[in-house]
Amino acid sequence: MKIVIVGGVAGGMSAAARARRLDESAEIVVLDRGEHVSWASCGLPYHVGGEIPEADDLLVQTPDKLRAALNLDVRTRHDVVGLDTAARRLTVLTDDGTDTVDYDALILSPGARAVRPPLDGLDSSRVHTLRSIDDATALREQLDRGAGRAVVLGAGFIGLEAAETLAARGLDVTVVELSSHVLPPLEHEVAWRVTAELERIGVTVRTGLAATAVEQGADHDTVVLADGTRLPADVVVLSVGVRPDTAVFEQAGIATDRGALVIDEHGRTNVDGVWAVGDAVTSTDAVTGLRRPVALAGPANRAGRLVADDILRPGSARPLPPTLSTAVVRVGELTAAATGADRAALRATDVYFHTLHLHPSHHVGWFPGAEQIHMMIHFRAGDGVLLGAQAVGRAGVDKRIDVLATAIRGGMTVADLVDLDLAYAPPYGAAKDPVNLAGMAASNVLDGTLHIWHVDQLEEVRRDALVLDVRSTAEFASGHIPGSLNIPHTELRERLGEVTAAAKGHPVRVLCASGVRSNIAHRVLAQAGFDSASLSGGMLTLRAAL
Ligand code: FAD
Repeated sequence: MKIVIVGGVAGGMSAAARARRLDESAEIVVLDRGEHVSWASCGLPYHVGGEIPEADDLLVQTPDKLRAALNLDVRTRHDVVGLDTAARRLTVLTDDGTDTVDYDALILSPGARAVRPPLDGLDSSRVHTLRSIDDATALREQLDRGAGRAVVLGAGFIGLEAAETLAARGLDVTVVELSSHVLPPLEHEVAWRVTAELERIGVTVRTGLAATAVEQGADHDTVVLADGTRLPADVVVLSVGVRPDTAVFEQAGIATDRGALVIDEHGRTNVDGVWAVGDAVTSTDAVTGLRRPVALAGPANRAGRLVADDILRPGSARPLPPTLSTAVVRVGELTAAATGADRAALRATDVYFHTLHLHPSHHVGWFPGAEQIHMMIHFRAGDGVLLGAQAVGRAGVDKRIDVLATAIRGGMTVADLVDLDLAYAPPYGAAKDPVNLAGMAASNVLDGTLHIWHVDQLEEVRRDALVLDVRSTAEFASGHIPGSLNIPHTELRERLGEVTAAAKGHPVRVLCASGVRSNIAHRVLAQAGFDSASLSGGMLTLRAAL
């Protein structure tokens, strides 16, 4: 069996290594157009910033080591420019000219290319993408020549990693994003804290705006924005998305959907003997069932392993799992992470769901160093199946999102989250971990113990209900919703008459700082016969909407 793999990084090299471990007799050839294989693209921003000083530190393997350890025939600077699926033959451009490579089984893991929008001036030498080690080297060289001002176009994960590292190198950085907030895959409640952190580390954030041109100058370029703003830039990082790098394979008759290779549950394309994985393929979303490309390293690596199984153990290989798009990013001192579906994705389905916000400490509050985690979860109405989660904070975020990703993958409900037996000692968590707390609060919502209202209902709540603020008088004095009544939750039982008088038969909508005290107050009011509800996430979430 001769297995040929196009693309020797995340998906491709995982497939190659697994194939070798399953079959010592297989001939395994890996073709990559680049200088390197098996290198850490995820480390590029940190190499630019200097946290990873040497580019060589990004090379996880070399062709020689791969030959020695796994007997792989790795050919770099081999660009696949043609595919004849009937003859099972690839045409390859090498330094020595054109060559052909035959295969019995072909695995395509060509990844994605940076999107280059049709803007004037993007051919400037000061404009950089961040997809390869060469890109990172070129950017570093430009910085070493003394760049002082940077504009990052696109505030997705890679754009923000670039912005963070450029700011850490002392550049004056502006991030420009077309969407209404940074990190568009995140909900605005989570993303606004990332914006605040970017500003804290000195990055200027411009959202809801497109760049319209890059004007090239002798000393510097100027990025022109749609509102006429002109941003001088010694360096521009272009990070506005990626597109599957599939033209050669599409031309050869491999079916695509908006450029992404279409695969079945085992990674097989429409053409016999051809499999595909990674950024170049469409994946099935685990929550919504929608198919779209997911440009993340984990799914690519795991899929590579599974297609090798399908080739060498036909009939017994597990199908590729649907993806949750679990992702995490560091921005300054913050970590932001998400898993599963967001509100927009859920609204596009016919699933009826609840959203809940919480702000628990990452470990018990009485142990030094406690930091708040700002969390939100989405869960299905009725049975409480967990659908998505996002969180941002200075500590403990990645752990909680990983637990919640595991829960979604396991089809768990919010009641199951209550029962999760998670590790606890004061420096690490709490006897009721934030994940348990999310499960408890969500279970209360499902069984009607907790009625919640949301910040997007603020206008109608102010019109139709009494807003009862149960924070302390000092907190109330520091800022409150105009027209709200302040009764600290500890005094509420004795002052219910004041609520009756102020509500005049209208509903009572309670709030506090984070939703904990307002839940207590809500229970007092509900049991006293009021139509009451507690603000999900309290003032800490309300701030995101203001
Ligand atoms: P790739 O790893 O991109 O490999 C594709 C290879 O195929 C390339 O080497 C390319 O040269 C080669 N190739 C393409 N076409 C041909 C051809 N015709 N002939 C020969 N060779 C070809 N993901 C995360 O989950 N977490 C992160 O923190 C993260 N950070 C990232 C940071 C950066 C700067 C970048 C660029 C990506 C990051 N990613 C991250 C995404 C992750 O790297 C990708 O999802 C993953 O590498 C995709 O694997 P792949 O095998 O599909 O493609």
